[in-house]
Amino acid sequence: MTAGYGSDTPTEKCGVVGVSLSGRDAARPLYYSLYALQHRGQESAGIVTHDGFQQHTHVAMGLVGDAFSESDLATLNGSAGIGHVRYPTAGSVDRSCAQPFSVSFKSGSLGLSHNGNLVNGEELRSELENQGHAFTSDGDTEVIAHDLARNLLESDLVRAVKRTMDRIHGSYALTIMHDDTVLGVRDPEGNRPLCIGEVPDGYVLASESAAIDTLDGELVRDVRPGELVVLHDDGSGFDSYQLVERERTAHCFFEYVYFARPDSRIDGTLVYEARRELGRRLWAESGVQTDVVMPVPDSGRSFASGYAEAAGESRAAGGEGSESVEFAEGLMKNRYVGRTFIMPTQHERERAVRLKLNPIASTVEDKTVTIVDDSIVRGTTSTQLVSLLREAGAEEVHMRIGAPPIVAPCYMGIDMATRDELIAAELSPAEIGEEIEADSLAYLSIDAIAETLDLDRGELCLGCVTGEYPYSIEGEESDREVDRPLIGTSALADD
Ligand code: AMP
Repeated sequence: MTAGYGSDTPTEKCGVVGVSLSGRDAARPLYYSLYALQHRGQESAGIVTHDGFQQHTHVAMGLVGDAFSESDLATLNGSAGIGHVRYPTAGSVDRSCAQPFSVSFKSGSLGLSHNGNLVNGEELRSELENQGHAFTSDGDTEVIAHDLARNLLESDLVRAVKRTMDRIHGSYALTIMHDDTVLGVRDPEGNRPLCIGEVPDGYVLASESAAIDTLDGELVRDVRPGELVVLHDDGSGFDSYQLVERERTAHCFFEYVYFARPDSRIDGTLVYEARRELGRRLWAESGVQTDVVMPVPDSGRSFASGYAEAAGESRAAGGEGSESVEFAEGLMKNRYVGRTFIMPTQHERERAVRLKLNPIASTVEDKTVTIVDDSIVRGTTSTQLVSLLREAGAEEVHMRIGAPPIVAPCYMGIDMATRDELIAAELSPAEIGEEIEADSLAYLSIDAIAETLDLDRGELCLGCVTGEYPYSIEGEESDREVDRPLIGTSALADD
């Protein structure tokens, strides 16, 4: 399989949307909703619409605002469409893998947007190639599209999707367009998010509810793991088909910790509230009294506010109410340093942190400081920050992390880093604390995450923090026994 850590900076991947309206072109709502999901992918953006007769496509490299001009949007006719923002975790970094993927075949046209990563994509690709399918890209999405197109020659839409779902293994949130019908599919373990929204003249599917808010819509509910949702062509509603049932889910906890927008609601949980609660638990587990609590912007902000609030409460309870903990935005972020900032060497990565974050000396001078971030991947950011804060005059620098140590790569659609690059793959938290030269370093426990999300550990995908994946990954050295049935990459369901 193709894992996604070819890039030099850890990044997240894709966002998907789908819209079906009663009488208005879908292009602009799709464009706005992609804007809302820009944080999920900055490499390319695309929209495919259908006007009842034919498909219209515009896919381009770059940010949403750069990828579409007014005239591009004007050519995207039709009241139904899907869209995509991409950062690659599988396939190459070029136009051939940009999505939505679209294709015309004997029974009509197909468009497909995919967030996730198949663990058996390569196997399915060679099987389809042996049957005469010709591929134009090396990504998973085209594999799903070909498989679905083939099934549509023999079955109706719902059955064809079911057949494809029985064959593809891994994580996927898909928005699909078959002619002018828009569909949404979520993988049977609910690893990647997908939700349904209602706007006055139609329905919307999106990776995150923030996209629905952007359209002034209402979140209806999340697509259920293993469910197919078919939006009515006239924007009047949607049909639901529970196509695959699994005993357990494998929700990605990292969506809550880092990827999703804080203003999104995933599977009933507002990400902002979850992060604040994780911050509070971080205090409960490993709080250290300091003069100032400071977030690493933007990812550490909600954690730090929960942490500082709990720190303040504990001081008050201890009769030290007057000495409230200062919550300071002491690290300024250059918002123009994007997540796709190209950093070919470790030296440049270090420069990039300096370019991105600058401390305000007066907030830290002669003070004991706690900095709070969501995660440590390679350790570049934390090492740089600790030394920057010391240079700015901090007396002590403590670091608190709102996730457990990341010890293993992600194969489920999140571009993290290779195992060799992960600082926690080899070092214990205490050793990492020494390495980054912090006065103390503490991570959050897995139990705190499960309790905050109100899920059992077994309902979460914890692959990157345990090395135990919901799917068996070929060549993954640290595959261990897990308390769920493993689905082997070779166990392809018969068609
Ligand atoms: P590092 O500097 O490699 O330790 O990365 C940690 C920083 O990257 C933290 O500030 C995180 O918020 C952020 N981060 C964590 N995971 C990712 C990811 N998959 N993509 C982009 N940034 C990430």
